[in-house]
Amino acid sequence: MIIPKKSKLTSPQLQEIENIVTEFGCRIQVITGAHQEIYAILGDERRELMISRIEGLSYIDRVDTIQSPYKLMDFRSSLAGHKVTIGKAQLGSEPVFIAGPCTIDPKNPNLFYETAAAIKEVGAHALRGGVWKPRTTPHSYQGDRAALDILLEGSARTGLPVITEIMDEAQLKEVESTPTAIYQIGTRNALNYSLLKAIGASAAKHRKAVLLKRGRHMAPIDEFLSAAEYLTAAGTPDIILCPRGTTPPLDGYRNHPDESITPLLKEKTWAPVVVDPSHSVGKALYVPAASLAAMAYGADGLCLECHLKPREGLGDDPKQAITPEVLEKLIKDCRTIWETPSRWQSRLKE
Ligand code: PEP
Ligand code: MN
Repeated sequence: MIIPKKSKLTSPQLQEIENIVTEFGCRIQVITGAHQEIYAILGDERRELMISRIEGLSYIDRVDTIQSPYKLMDFRSSLAGHKVTIGKAQLGSEPVFIAGPCTIDPKNPNLFYETAAAIKEVGAHALRGGVWKPRTTPHSYQGDRAALDILLEGSARTGLPVITEIMDEAQLKEVESTPTAIYQIGTRNALNYSLLKAIGASAAKHRKAVLLKRGRHMAPIDEFLSAAEYLTAAGTPDIILCPRGTTPPLDGYRNHPDESITPLLKEKTWAPVVVDPSHSVGKALYVPAASLAAMAYGADGLCLECHLKPREGLGDDPKQAITPEVLEKLIKDCRTIWETPSRWQSRLKE
């Protein structure tokens, strides 16, 4: 990772460095942060001669060589100071809430707009809504392109940034040119490396954030962070990690709740953690307790399924969406936990 003395390299400087790394079979990926560009060396960056030639250039501050499978996501990375924002909210500075239906019903746009307005009213920072849905069986409702326009209209009416799941490159093309703020990569695609590369590159180009769900088959922490590394290595530093429960489930829950991995993630990476308690426990009744637990574990925010009339919803909504009324109480209680001194203790590094 190359850190220039100034906030970015000029084109001739970048070209000079590219020429050097190409000689060693590597290439440069530019990663644009809020205040600085950094330059990741992709390939084997531990070649001493290559590093010393780059370090010798007058406009280079230093070259960081971290030995980690996820050197960009690693807590020691030069990206560690990068702050991810959702709308005006900076993750890490206040608890951030993403809420909305599992699935937008294209036949009932008004219900989505009313839900969106209620969610905004109770203080959420972003609106979620499934357009295309990854369903366990092909016989379930698969989503509809028409829901994308409804999602965007919900954003325009409320002023809330929106997030939706992308499952393939054709969907990515549909969404990237819209004002959608965040791409979601669902648990089933958490190890789809070609899609991760395409989404990472698109997010960098179109300045979107990416919420990456944890692979549901008990993805080990390093596998989760390495999946996120694919996004960063494609050029985007705006990554949000989302534990969402794993399988096999804890008896009675939809999945095995995994908000407890938050402190582990916090120790290994700088990226913010937004927990999804809805898919984790899978039942509206259990979602508030799981949400509070996630906050206590040090999460930076929550991504919740929320619907004005869950029973009239599609997909997961009838089972696991909470109402905006419950969301309102939950946001208040989460804010109290956010302030708890011992919560911060677990985030302090030695
Ligand atoms: C969803 O967010 O509705 C969804 C399908 O998520 P996951 O990938 O966690 O199952
Ligand atoms: Mn869902």
